Amino acid sequence: MIPLKPITELPTHEVVNMPPLIGDQDLWAGDVALREAVAREGAGGAAGRLEEFGRLMGRDAVFEKAEQANRHAPELRAFDRHGRRINQVDYHPAYHDLMEIAVANGAPNHAWAHEGPGAHAANMAIVYLFSQAESGVLCPMAMTYSVMPVLRNNPGAGDEWIPRLLSAEYDSRDIPAAGKSGALVGMFMTEKQGGSDVRGNSTIAEPAGAETGEGAAYLLSGHKFFCSAPMCDAFLTLAYAKGGLSCFLMPRWTPDGSRNNLFIQRLKDKLGNRSNASSEMELQNSWGVMIGPEGRGVRTIMDMVTGNRLYCATNSAALMRQALVQALHHTSHRTAFQKKLIQQPLMRNVLADLALEAEAALALALRVARTFDEAGNGEDCAALFRIGTAIAKFWNCKRAPAHTAEALECLGGPGYIEESPMPRLYREAPLNSIWEGAGNVICLDVLRALHREPAAAPALLAELEAARGGHGLFDAALDDLRAEIADPDNLEFRARRLTERMAVLWQAALLVQHAPGPVADAFCASRLGDRWTGSFGALPAGTDFAGILERALPHGESAA
Ligand SMILES: Cc1cc2nc3c(=O)[nH]c(=O)nc-3n(C[C@H](O)[C@H](O)[C@H](O)COP(=O)(O)OP(=O)(O)OC[C@H]3O[C@@H](n4cnc5c(N)ncnc54)[C@H](O)[C@@H]3O)c2cc1C
Repeated sequence: MIPLKPITELPTHEVVNMPPLIGDQDLWAGDVALREAVAREGAGGAAGRLEEFGRLMGRDAVFEKAEQANRHAPELRAFDRHGRRINQVDYHPAYHDLMEIAVANGAPNHAWAHEGPGAHAANMAIVYLFSQAESGVLCPMAMTYSVMPVLRNNPGAGDEWIPRLLSAEYDSRDIPAAGKSGALVGMFMTEKQGGSDVRGNSTIAEPAGAETGEGAAYLLSGHKFFCSAPMCDAFLTLAYAKGGLSCFLMPRWTPDGSRNNLFIQRLKDKLGNRSNASSEMELQNSWGVMIGPEGRGVRTIMDMVTGNRLYCATNSAALMRQALVQALHHTSHRTAFQKKLIQQPLMRNVLADLALEAEAALALALRVARTFDEAGNGEDCAALFRIGTAIAKFWNCKRAPAHTAEALECLGGPGYIEESPMPRLYREAPLNSIWEGAGNVICLDVLRALHREPAAAPALLAELEAARGGHGLFDAALDDLRAEIADPDNLEFRARRLTERMAVLWQAALLVQHAPGPVADAFCASRLGDRWTGSFGALPAGTDFAGILERALPHGESAA
């Protein structure tokens, strides 16, 4: 018998020309544009906290948890083993670990727990850092963050719920919220026949007792077609009461200690965002309290939608940043045709263009976050916040799918393989553009803001005028935008073009004023001239590619 030879090397060929695993990242120290934007938008006081959090979120072990939470998607457990209806969703332990990290670090409530200048900008920086590892977990974080203005305007429900939502503890137990160390809130608006057009809702609300109107208890019956994070402790929803479409807060458990009638029918099988459960829900005499005036449900719940839109814009910026980091890492180590890919002129053009887009998206998201911080400072500030969230939501979310696809392609074949984070970033990207108002709906909302809030257009234009003189193309494009806003013809047909130009000019204005010359010049030269098609890798000759790439590289690697 031939003796077996001990195996000292794995029986495969040597692996060459493959990048090392990216390993632990420092999402704060490695992102100069983030550090600058945080300081600029008034959130510098949170820098110490963000520094620590950026190191935590960049850890390979955290990315691994995100991978697990998405690979092992949540499962519906509608009944207990004796057939009682329990409407539970079971998650992988990695999901709960990530939820704990998110809550402990203020993703749902930093701004509300540390009120003061820069609080919302700091909250969005937390979101930006978290999102680079995982997005699904952020759905209940976004809704909890966003419900706060609604609860503040409604002291009855607010007094009861706000203290729970400010907690830094994640309590996953399915028990009445009064006995928990922290709580989270979701939102159910969409029905089969009406999503964007919520007035098509058919759910009805009947008074549960003699009292009616704001603060009274109602029983809701109908269906909700998209209910994400259904294990939250309470939900805002819309239903028709006698006086019209109204907003209700439905807790998971009713005040008498029984399970509320929130019947989860099934979980959606989604393109991405797989760690997060999104369900279909039947309501049958489900208990809820009316929030806000009867018949003013859309107005009431819109205060929640606005915060969610800011979350979407920030999450999209983060997806682009992490996609860029992965592309930079791969191309810095992979050689083709005798050169590192990052040294190939055409690849440099693509990478630099991706870097410009990611930095512009971040700058816009954090600038709009600051408008939230300043929204109480007068009509102009409130109007800028109102229109700004819609503008940033539309454009950041619209650019993320194209950006992540292009970044994925920089990795060649391995970018398409599930072991890489790229497919997850790519699949997440289109969602931000759909929920909280799909693209067209958001652009129509920009028109609504222009029409209903006389301060909106002047506030936006004043913001942009601050950058006049910074670049010749900018000045000309700003004059064009003024004319486009003033033109009343065919506004609805032109709403996308108008919103896009507002967004791109706002991004350009921020970069012209605050980013280094190579970044600002290349952004204006590519996006404000006649030749821009929107595809990546078409920056003009004369661009300072090394300057842009060195700024974007996370750890001071050389882009020469
Ligand atoms: C994964 C996931 C999770 C979700 N979670 C939740 C949740 O937790 N709670 C919740 O309430 N909803 C949730 N949604 C639903 C989401 O908010 C809606 O799908 C979205 O608002 C669009 O509504 P709709 O699907 O009914 O599409 P529609 O309203 O039918 O719109 C379809 C298309 O028509 C366009 N459109 C609509 N009106 C106009 C117009 N006047 N002019 C031009 N174009 C128009 C839209 O922009 C869109 O592109 C979720 C969706 C997804 C995908």
